[in-house]
Amino acid sequence: MVAVSVDITPQQAWQRLADGNERFVHGTSSHPNQDAPRRAALVDTQHPFAVIFGCSDSRLAAEIIFDVGLGDVFVVRTAGQVIDDAVLGSLEYSVDQLSVPLIIILGHDNCGAVTATRDAVETGTMPAGFVRDLVERITPSVLTARRNGVDDVNSMVEEHVQQTAGRLVESSRVIGKAVEQGRVDVLGVTYRLADGRAEVVSKF
Ligand SMILES: [Zn+2]
Repeated sequence: MVAVSVDITPQQAWQRLADGNERFVHGTSSHPNQDAPRRAALVDTQHPFAVIFGCSDSRLAAEIIFDVGLGDVFVVRTAGQVIDDAVLGSLEYSVDQLSVPLIIILGHDNCGAVTATRDAVETGTMPAGFVRDLVERITPSVLTARRNGVDDVNSMVEEHVQQTAGRLVESSRVIGKAVEQGRVDVLGVTYRLADGRAEVVSKF
């Protein structure tokens, strides 16, 4: 049985991811849409029902933690889920060309990129190479958290997820308009490494 998502609402899309995550948390993943018929059905087309823009961390494997398969989710990942032009282009493509109704901004506890940014802000020492670029893009979130008296990395991650969602909606006219028209929801989600649970922390 091959299910291709058509005209699914943002709420239905999130429900599907939430159900998959619930199965993953309880060790009852059903590994849907990962067989040869599904692969064959998708050769000429794709209709993913969500886009997941998350941290590159190896423990945050998008299809596994939401228990989905081939053709289900469009995935964009950078360390610390930082936005650059290529990320914006990828997300706009998913909304504009693939008509995806849901964008998930996915951060996680104990994030190395956010920890590195907190260290850089505290010591005043920037990392070398292009890692500096990551840190610079996470710094506003860390500064806001500190201004609010928050000093633990996991609360900073939550702040960073919320700010990333806000920046996305502000920066991209395509996505901002889709949100305005109710065609797309942008959910900020945090993931806990220990129990595997994904929780919504913000919504546009
Ligand atoms: Zn991370």
